[in-house]
This record gives sequence, C-alpha cells and structure tokens, in this order.
Amino acid sequence: MDFTRILHPAPMPAAERDAALANPGFGTLFSDHMVTIDYDEAKGGWHNAVVGPRGPLSLDPSAAVLHYAQEIFEGLKAYKQVDGSTALFRPDANARRFNASADRLAMPHLPEETFLESIRQLVAADRDWFPSVEGGSLYLRPFMIATEAFLGVRPARQYKFIVIASPAGSYFKGGPKPVSIWISDYTRAAPGGTGAAKCGGNYAASLVPTGEAFARGHDQVLFLDAVERKWVEELGGMNLFFVFDDGRVITPPLTGTILPGITRDSLIQLLREEGLTVEEGMYSIDQWREDAASGKLLETLACGTAAVVTPVGKVAGPDGEFEIGSGGPGQITMKIREKLVGIQKGEVADTHGWVMKL
Ligand code: PMP
Repeated sequence: MDFTRILHPAPMPAAERDAALANPGFGTLFSDHMVTIDYDEAKGGWHNAVVGPRGPLSLDPSAAVLHYAQEIFEGLKAYKQVDGSTALFRPDANARRFNASADRLAMPHLPEETFLESIRQLVAADRDWFPSVEGGSLYLRPFMIATEAFLGVRPARQYKFIVIASPAGSYFKGGPKPVSIWISDYTRAAPGGTGAAKCGGNYAASLVPTGEAFARGHDQVLFLDAVERKWVEELGGMNLFFVFDDGRVITPPLTGTILPGITRDSLIQLLREEGLTVEEGMYSIDQWREDAASGKLLETLACGTAAVVTPVGKVAGPDGEFEIGSGGPGQITMKIREKLVGIQKGEVADTHGWVMKL
C-alpha cells in the first residue's frame, strides 16, 4: 500500500522535544505524526493510507466504536540498538495477534505487511522521538475503531486503523523491584468471551479491580478463572510464570481467557533453551500458596511488553497473603530478563529472528 506523507507543519520545537525526551514517563508524551488508513466495505476495503500530523479525530457521534466498543489495539516498542540503528521486537507477532483480535470483534483483517509498513513509516517520520534516557523506547500503539455512523448492533462497515507513538522511559528506575499483587474477586474473562482478544472493553472492565488493588497498596491485579474461581490466569497487563526447585516452570495455558502475550511466547522458548522444562498448565491459587510456603516454588515472574520481566514478591487476597522466595528478584527471573532485554537491544545474538531492523 502506498502512503501519502504529510509532514507536520509545526512540529514540537527541537529544544522542547529533547527536554521532554530526557524524562518521558509513560503514555503522556506523543510524537508529531500518526498513521491513518481507512476501511470501507463499499470502497473495496483498505485505502487512503496517510502518515500525517498527529491530531484530533473527527467522528460522527453515532460511530459504532462509541456505542458498542468495536475496538482493538496492539502495543509494541521500537528500540535503539547498541549499534545506533532502530529495531522492533517480533512486530509480525503483533500483526498476527491484531488480526486474531479483529476476528473476535467482527472487524476486517489488516494485511500483516500493511501493519508492519505503517509502523516503519511512523518510526521513520518520528525518528527524532526516541527517548534519550537509558532503557527508553518508542512505544507504538496501533489500533482500529469502527467509524460507521449507525446505531444498530451489527459489525460496522467502515473502520479506521491508526498508529500513534509515545516515547517511554524505563519502566524501572534502579532495576526491577518485586511487585505485590492483589487477587481480585472480579473476573476478567469467561470461556467463550473476549479474553484472548486485545480489545478496549477488556481493559474498561479491569479498571475497578485494578483500582481496588491500588487502593490496597498493591501494584497489579491478579485474575482467577471465571468458572471455578481457583485457577490463576494473568495480571491486568502481564502473563505469569512459576519457577520450581526441580527445574520445572509452569505458565497458564492459552485456553481463550488470557491474552497470548508475545513476551510469554518468547520466554517459553528462552527458558527451554536454559534447560528448564516449561509446561503450559493450570495452576491453582491454593497450590501456589502451598508451594510458596514449602519452598518448592522458587520464583514467580510477570511478563509483558511494558515491564518486560518483573519479579512477583507478594500475593494478597481476602484470605490473607503470602510471599514468594525471599521477596527479592529471583535468579531465573533476572537471568531471563537480561537475556530478553539483551536481544531487544541487539546486545545478545538474535538466534530466533525476532529483531526486525528498521
Ligand atoms: N496480558 C494482558 C491482559 C496484557 O494487556 C498484556 C500486554 N499486552 C500482556 C498479557 C502481555 O502481552 P505482551 O507480552 O504481548 O505485551
């Protein structure tokens, strides 16, 4: 697909931008440009691809997304490599997951190559927007909304695909700290629901449980399965791994109620290469408590694009709380984190073909 390029007529002045890039935080600073591509069933599908100035959208108030939440998104990072080039980590996996989400939300597929080209175009237009802080990256947010002006409950016939970019600082200042998590009474996803899709509605529903976790002084919310209320599923925005003293590692299986994390998939492979036996298996909250107490469970780690790999130190719920290991970051967690970050930054050989240079 050919992209029309329209440069921002008044980009942020370089001095102001560079000052912001020294301390970008997360999710509040945005680059100058965005990509938009329109979809119209009546016009043969995707058309009108533009890299243009980032700015407000104009939507009809009856646009389907505003009423029935027909929306999906992705999240990935562009990294500065040690050799000065820029690269993406497994963007093809994001493109595939985007289309899997589109299937569940009755939205049209975007060709994977168009997804990737959109990101390349935006990073090229905003190449001066990489944070200058150590551990910083350019976070990319591709998303699709139903724009058709129509109030019936049926799949829309018009959509917009958009990519925006947000410079992000290091998630951890001074290294990863073990997080404390709160076991929610709310559930995130039921069998047959939208748990495996990356759609906005899942996150809207997680705000109250996440707020509860924060109010109780925890960092993240943990969701159990919606049927038996005992199987560990995932955190609000991360997948989980349990590391045992006999070289086994368990991560909850992709049964349709958790997000198939790209970090999760990468870690399964990297942990196996470390000689560990990784099982995708159900793990109950009671077993977790018991294994943490007996010392069989050495480490629990959470993983996702934002925080990469994070140790879980404490788990709390209505029935009390328990600690994992010494409460500090475990050995496997730190080793695997370093390996993954090393691959992403181009410091460790990419034997899997995960790094896509831009
Ligand atoms: N679970 C949920 C609910 C998430 O929002 C995310 C972040 N995308 C993850 C897991 C981790 O997925 P990934 O490794 O692809 O970022």
